[in-house]
Amino acid sequence: MRPKIYITRKLPDAVVTRLTEVCEVRMWEKEEEPVPRDVLEKEILDVDGLFCLLTETIDEHLLTLGTNLKIISNMAVGYNNIDIAAATEQKIMVTNTPGVLTETTADLTFALLMATARRMVEASDYLRAGSLKTWSPMQLTGQDIYGATLGIIGLGRIGEALAKRARGFDMNLYYHNRSRKPEVEKQLGIQYVEKEKLLRESDFVCVLTPYTKETENYIGAAELALMKPTAVLINTARGGIVNEEALYQALKGGQIWGAGLDVFEKEPVQTDHPLLSLPNVVALPHIGSASKNTRLKMALLAAENLIQGLQGNTPKNIVN
Ligand code: NAP
Repeated sequence: MRPKIYITRKLPDAVVTRLTEVCEVRMWEKEEEPVPRDVLEKEILDVDGLFCLLTETIDEHLLTLGTNLKIISNMAVGYNNIDIAAATEQKIMVTNTPGVLTETTADLTFALLMATARRMVEASDYLRAGSLKTWSPMQLTGQDIYGATLGIIGLGRIGEALAKRARGFDMNLYYHNRSRKPEVEKQLGIQYVEKEKLLRESDFVCVLTPYTKETENYIGAAELALMKPTAVLINTARGGIVNEEALYQALKGGQIWGAGLDVFEKEPVQTDHPLLSLPNVVALPHIGSASKNTRLKMALLAAENLIQGLQGNTPKNIVN
């Protein structure tokens, strides 16, 4: 008998076709709307596999309902939306999609750094609003990127790819991880420093750790207080890693200069979110990996992980 799977969002045809070769497929057909919780709770009852996105909270209750469930394939590298301990306890495999999105996310992270430093969104809005009267010497001036110090918190796949880009801008590079990477240090000319030194001395601080209990509120009021008044914070990892209330106060009070945020504690972020009211914030709707090629690669990799697991093999990207 073909295994049954549920897909929590409309996927590209090529991905559905591949999954249909092996599985009996049911899918939430809407592209712009997440599957309602009550629908997911019904759909999970008889499936062997679940293909989900970071918009779905896969908690212990849901896992308990899925009595046939063998594998959950998350179409993301981060998997903080899934209760991994509960899945492991119930012998359910969980997979993610690392690697295929690394370069695209590093591109976006560097683009966000540049857009924030050079006030690109603010300048564009200024122009479109008809506020521009003339060119003037200090109008819309920002921070230099070339030659500045970039501190990367979480030098993993995306962090390293970001460091490579920053080298092209003659940036001085710092990183902080739990473990050192001597080979990468030599290769990229990047220096390992303690968290405090990174925060005190960096002109740009980029957060690229996974979101875990350990990294929750990793950047709070105390950390922001260490940063330079000219510093820019970039978060393309996950919202909960940076304390949003503390960040709002730091940006409003001029404790730091600006922030570029692709991720928020609660997504989709609402338009009345205090951080969105600040001109020194560039805010994006979680588009780190959003290139056409990469999203297709992520979906195909998630499909292969699911198929492997359902065919009794160990999927390439198992996380538990
Ligand atoms: P990765 O290769 O696992 O890198 C994560 C890095 O963080 C590792 O070097 C790890 O090193 C470090 N780290 C983990 N816990 C830490 C801690 N407590 N303190 C300091 N450093 C810590 O992951 P990746 O592929 O680069 O992805 C990173 C994250 O980016 C993902 O988890 C995801 O949440 C996010 N992401 C966002 C988007 C987007 O669309 N915005 C796209 C892709 C990924 P140690 O283990 O040595 O500490």
